[in-house]
Amino acid sequence: MGRVAEPLSEPLVERMRGFGTTIFAEMSALAASTGSINLGQGFPDTDGPPAMLAAAVAAIEGGGNQYPPGPGLPELRAAVADQREDRYGLGYDPETEVYVTVGATEGVAASVLALAGPGDEVVAFEPTYDSYAATVALAGAALRPVLLRPDAGRFTFDPAELRAAVTPRTRVLLVNSPHNPCGTVFTRDELAEIAAVCVEHDLTAVTDEVYEYLTYDGAEHVPLATFPGMRERTLTVSSVGKTFSVTGWKTGWVTGPAPLVRAVQTVKQFLTYATGGPWQRAAAYALREELPWVAELRAALERKRDRLLAGLEAAGFLAYRPQGTYFVQADIRPLGYTDGLELARALPGLAGVVAVPTQVFYQRPADGAHFVRFAFCKRDEVIDEAVARLAGLGRDRARA
Ligand code: PMP
Ligand code: GLN
Repeated sequence: MGRVAEPLSEPLVERMRGFGTTIFAEMSALAASTGSINLGQGFPDTDGPPAMLAAAVAAIEGGGNQYPPGPGLPELRAAVADQREDRYGLGYDPETEVYVTVGATEGVAASVLALAGPGDEVVAFEPTYDSYAATVALAGAALRPVLLRPDAGRFTFDPAELRAAVTPRTRVLLVNSPHNPCGTVFTRDELAEIAAVCVEHDLTAVTDEVYEYLTYDGAEHVPLATFPGMRERTLTVSSVGKTFSVTGWKTGWVTGPAPLVRAVQTVKQFLTYATGGPWQRAAAYALREELPWVAELRAALERKRDRLLAGLEAAGFLAYRPQGTYFVQADIRPLGYTDGLELARALPGLAGVVAVPTQVFYQRPADGAHFVRFAFCKRDEVIDEAVARLAGLGRDRARA
C-alpha cells in the first residue's frame, strides 16, 4: 500500500489515488540498492520441499501447460477439501465449495469484490495486511478498522470496539489469523466473539489463514468457519506460499458454502480466469505428502523467532512475541525513535538492515507510527548478522 508515497493524480482512477507503490516493493528495492539484509518483505531465503519443486517441473515437462479448468485442477480441489476435513473437521464439496485462486491475495480480492460495493462497509482488524485497504477501495466500499492493541504482551481487540464498528451497511468482516504483522493467533474466546457479531448482524466473514500452519508455543489455529453458525457464512482463504516456502508460486484457494463460492467464481473468472496449472499440480502433491516437512519448518521458525526476539531485545527494541506468522512487531520508542517510516528509510544507512514500517497498514498512520516489523523466515546466519548490526543502533543513538 502506498499511503507513504505522494498522493497520485490522474490518469489513476480516483479511488486508488491514496495507494502508491507497496511498502514491500519499496523496502525490498531499498535492501537491494543498499546491499542491506532484508528482514522487510516476508519471504524465506530457502526453498520449499524438493519433491514439490520436482512435481512442478514434472507437470511442465509432462505437458500440463494449457489452461486448467477455471475452478482449479480437480486433484487440487480434492486435496484442499481433504485438508480442511482432516485438520479441522470441516467438510467441503470439492466440486462446488473449493475454488483455486492466484494466491491468497486474489482469493481475498475476489471475495471482497464479490460481496461489497459502493455504499457497503468492510470491517477489518487493524493493522490490516497491505492488500486489504486497496482491495476494499477497488470495490468502492469503505473500510472500518478495529484496532489491535498490545495487552499483556500480545495484540488484541476490544470487543466493544468491534461491535461499534459494525453498522447497517457492513457486509463483510475480514479476519486474518495468524495475523500479519502483529503475530496474534486469535483464541477461541476472541473467535467466538467475532462469530457472534457475524451471526447477530448477518455478516459474511472472509478469513485469511495463510499462516495456518505457522503457530508457536502450542498456540492453536482455529478456523472461524468451525464456530456455530459460521460455516454457512464464511469464505476461508489460504495458499501454498507460506506453508511450503514458495511465496513466488501465487497459488491459493477459497473454501466456503456453494452460494458464496459461486459469487467468488463470478468475479475471479474475469480477473484471471484460471490459476497456473503446474503450480496447482505441485500444490496438490504437497498438501497430501509434505505436511511432515511443514511440521519441521514450523519448529525451525519457532527457533528463529526466539533468535530474532532475543537480538531485537538486546538491541533495545520492545519486541512483541508472535504466536504465529514469521514476523515480529517491534516498538522503536525505547531506542529514542518515534517514526517507524523515517527509521525504516534510515535503517540501511544506520545498520545495513531493512524492516517494514507498519504505520502504512493503519488508516491513521499515527496509530502505528512507532512500530516496525522484522521477518524471521531467514537462515540463522542471516538473522545473527542482522541482529549484530542492529546491536549498534542504541549505542550510536546514545552517543549522538
Ligand atoms: N495474506 C497475508 C496475511 C499475507 O501475509 C500474505 C503474504 N503471504 C498474503 C495474504 C498473500 O498470499 P499470496 O502470496 O498467496 O497471495
Ligand atoms: N506477505 C508478504 C509480507 O507481508 C509480502 C507479500 C507482498 O510483497 N505483497 O511481507
